[in-house]
Amino acid sequence: MLLGAPGTGKGTQAERLEQDLGLTHVASGDLFRGHAQQRTPLGLQAAAYMRGGDLVPDEVTVAMLRERLQQADARAGVVLDGFPRTLAQAEALDMMMGALARRIAGVLYLDVPDEELVTRLAGRLVCRECQAPFHLQANPFATCPYQKCQGEHLYRRDDDNPATVRARLATFHERTEPLIRYYRDRSLLVTIRGSGTLADVTAATLGAARSLASAALGPA
Ligand SMILES: [Zn+2]
Repeated sequence: MLLGAPGTGKGTQAERLEQDLGLTHVASGDLFRGHAQQRTPLGLQAAAYMRGGDLVPDEVTVAMLRERLQQADARAGVVLDGFPRTLAQAEALDMMMGALARRIAGVLYLDVPDEELVTRLAGRLVCRECQAPFHLQANPFATCPYQKCQGEHLYRRDDDNPATVRARLATFHERTEPLIRYYRDRSLLVTIRGSGTLADVTAATLGAARSLASAALGPA
């Protein structure tokens, strides 16, 4: 499982874990989108809540996850990304994993100081045409360099302005601190220092995931 605030590069690390360790990346956002597009019963249920401006209840998300974990490509192990977000969800996940006779091998927490995340996200720019991401400092362009976009201007998403980022981070900490304690108490938590270069963070993440995987496969 990967835990981390918005902007910590969780998605990038999940892709590396998939490529390098042969795990399947299961992102809760993709599950929702897939069910919504295919108009499954669970997808229609989730859509009804979202249309009403309500959060999708944990039972619906857990049911999607339960079904996903039983698919063939999930048997050898998955990287769970975006779920659980709350303590109640973590408890629901434990029950479900118990029922499937599976277990959580470990929880990798990508820890990045808030101020660094504010700088990262506030500098993020997106092309209006192709949605490609750029960055004021790390990848500076004023207009999209891709030919098909013909110099379309880049813009900052409303979600990425510093005040909104700080509010998103406050929500993240409020919900996630109890989760971090929960997994630490169960000796499942590994904290990865998420500042530093992408290569360093990736090496630390892969190293931690490899040792968790070999411990999980060894004698219980
Ligand atoms: Zn573009």
